[in-house]
Amino acid sequence: MGKLILVTGGTGFIGSHTVVELQQAGFDVVIVDNLSNSKKEVVDNIEKITGVRPKFECFDLANRELTRDFFSRNKNIDAIIHFAAFKAVGESVQKPLEYYRNNLTALMNLLECMKDFNVNNFVFSSSCTVYGQPEKLPVTESTPRRPAESPYGNTKAIAEDIIRDFAFVNPQAKCIALRYFNPIGAHPSSLIGESPVGVPNNLVPYITQTAAGIRKELSVFGNDYNTPDGTPIRDYINVVDLSKAHVVAIDRLINDKNKSNYEYFNIGTGNGYSVMELVNAFMKATGVNLPYKIVGRRAGDIEKIWADTSYANNELGWKAEKSIEETLLSAWNWEKKCRGIK
Ligand code: UDP
Repeated sequence: MGKLILVTGGTGFIGSHTVVELQQAGFDVVIVDNLSNSKKEVVDNIEKITGVRPKFECFDLANRELTRDFFSRNKNIDAIIHFAAFKAVGESVQKPLEYYRNNLTALMNLLECMKDFNVNNFVFSSSCTVYGQPEKLPVTESTPRRPAESPYGNTKAIAEDIIRDFAFVNPQAKCIALRYFNPIGAHPSSLIGESPVGVPNNLVPYITQTAAGIRKELSVFGNDYNTPDGTPIRDYINVVDLSKAHVVAIDRLINDKNKSNYEYFNIGTGNGYSVMELVNAFMKATGVNLPYKIVGRRAGDIEKIWADTSYANNELGWKAEKSIEETLLSAWNWEKKCRGIK
């Protein structure tokens, strides 16, 4: 029997890809997800890719009794990867209490269960949003954190602090936070990918829906930034590469390779692409014309950020490998599959 990993939010975008990578690396997986932003069919598709059906339970981790009951029935969990959270930046501004309550309560319920049920390994899904607009680029792990731009971003910063403080007084608990840059793309099988509900907020789902004819044109939010072509720069990372970082983090914890019991890593490619560079790379990779117009800046957007990944590269022995073209093509293939486009 392999080690058993609890993946919360395992039917979501990054969660589902991580379950695939874990199973392919020989881990057993139990998913907990309340399906608030994903579908149960994802479990079928994970099984199609890996040949193994992960265990699945549907409940809300913000419910303390249900969470405790789950751990009392599952005493053999070796590690937790915690993805389950609300993630819409704009919505979080409108509904701050829902975001703080949901994201932080679920985290604290899990940490409490780690202590009470002797689960010692924890990987947390954090974000480069904790850096805000850094003064110096690229950002390293010692770049200071900045006040968050949104309640969503703040839940990530507060969650990191909660985990740090928990680890401090629980030396047996080993925790890693992975600070993701911009995850994009889909599994090469086109069986799992990103499925935004309603109008997408993020750039790549908006691009693929526009290419599929669902949206009229992409609005490029601002071309008057202090960047070479005036559009904002991000570090877009392939979701499969990102998922592999979780497998490596789990291996580090389970095999006691960690240097302290709370560590955090930048998980990006180290390369920055502007919005227009991404749009052009999409057209080149797919051969599809993408209508777009330049509009005003979006409130709260930062100008530019990309990762220094040397700490993750050296310490985890992990590196993003897939090209931007391959990644954008995978996102397009997934969109086509979802829409029945040949
Ligand atoms: N963006 C855009 N049009 C869109 C969505 C996003 O021009 O319809 C830009 C946005 O201004 C930002 C970049 O694309 O510069 C990435 O945005 P996304 O929301 O995907 O990620 P984040 O802002 O969280 O880095």
